[in-house]
Amino acid sequence: MSPPAEPPSQPYSYVRRELVEPDWRRLPGWKDVTETQWRDAQWQRVHCVRNARQLRLVMGALLTEAFYEDLAADRRRYATMSILLPPQMLNVMAVHAPLEPEAFTAAFLVDPVRRYMLPVASDRDPRWPSHPHAQRDSLHEAEMWAVEGLTHRYPTKVLAELVSTCPQYCGHCTRMDLVGQSTSQVTKHRLALRPAERQDQILGYLRRTPSVRDVVVSGGDVANVPWAQLESFVMRLLAIDSVRDVRLASKSLAGLPQHWLQPPVVEGLERIARTALRRGVNLAIHTHVNHAQSVTPLVAEAARTALAVGVRDVRNQGVLMRGVNATPDDLLDLSFALQDEAGIMPYYFYMCDLIPHAEHWRVAVWEAQELQHAIMGYLPGYATPRIVCDVPYVGKRWVHQVTEYDRELGISYWTKNYRTPIELDDPQALEQRFPYYDPLSTLDETGRKWWSGPL
Ligand code: SF4
Repeated sequence: MSPPAEPPSQPYSYVRRELVEPDWRRLPGWKDVTETQWRDAQWQRVHCVRNARQLRLVMGALLTEAFYEDLAADRRRYATMSILLPPQMLNVMAVHAPLEPEAFTAAFLVDPVRRYMLPVASDRDPRWPSHPHAQRDSLHEAEMWAVEGLTHRYPTKVLAELVSTCPQYCGHCTRMDLVGQSTSQVTKHRLALRPAERQDQILGYLRRTPSVRDVVVSGGDVANVPWAQLESFVMRLLAIDSVRDVRLASKSLAGLPQHWLQPPVVEGLERIARTALRRGVNLAIHTHVNHAQSVTPLVAEAARTALAVGVRDVRNQGVLMRGVNATPDDLLDLSFALQDEAGIMPYYFYMCDLIPHAEHWRVAVWEAQELQHAIMGYLPGYATPRIVCDVPYVGKRWVHQVTEYDRELGISYWTKNYRTPIELDDPQALEQRFPYYDPLSTLDETGRKWWSGPL
């Protein structure tokens, strides 16, 4: 009798992995940095890497000259965001790389976190670095400002941009139009009102618009709003009877978790959470983690501290990017690290938006649909992330909601079930189809030829 056949293995093998804080002392510039310094938010902010010179100070001889030339070429030709890397973020890159220049550089180049936080020219698509329809402010948020910094796109929800800076800058930032310092490619727009005036106008609009029940308090990153100012804004928000959901948006929960562990911040968060609970408002923190490597014990500690002081949920809104996380294993590894080890709900993955110089990161709608299919059934339903496409003039759509799809030209068409405030008088708005474009490198020869001609 032949032995029983081995059961076929699963496409994804779940293994529980303990979180580890990579040892920062492996990097020459931080060999004497103590644990107390590392846990200090101020030390992290002061020691952020902002340019190649500062990167050299941290890396010593670990990166080759060719890497720095690649980085400089990107700064000249493509970069839409300035460099700002807290030590915490830099430390999760190339964690297991041999400490020898050629091998370290090779590992650094393929590192998924490096690929989006510190892009180099050789990452970009050589033929079509930008899609012909790529745009600054590709989601047209400023067009939908009810008052400066307050995007009113959905009937019941708004996005309040309190600040246009972050403790870290991501290469693919969808608000590249406004967020951060100008680069050689992009002169940033500036918020004109003083912060206090802008906040008053935002609150005034919300008081006179009771149909809005859900406010995302964002930026930029709320970690760059002085705490007293943020607390005062959120408390005034919580006093508006019609506001039922408040979400604080902060990538720094993962990029600079030390910020969220500072006693004045934790105590302030507890005051806000208690007030929210008393008023029956759902208070959540939304963060932005794109790879399991970024989920370290400090990140878990920051998330669990927020939950312990009464924040109802901490959720992740990652961005789906080729070379970073666009495989079923990467998405599931990240989701399990968040869900099992950090108490962060894997909530969404957004397709990378149609901004300039992002073609190498973007994936096609059909690829996103395949990924959504591949990640179903492993996590609990409530923690299975939805992959969404933020369609210009429409808003978030689950990737399977596409109405029509021309695969040859890579154009998908989407409809919506609500009017944005800029089309309230348009009787056709709900009949209209809105296009979204796949990256041209994913098309076959016919499609690429079509896009090479006059548009
Ligand atoms: S943290 Fe968010 S707003 Fe800031 S640069 Fe990154 S993606 Fe943009």
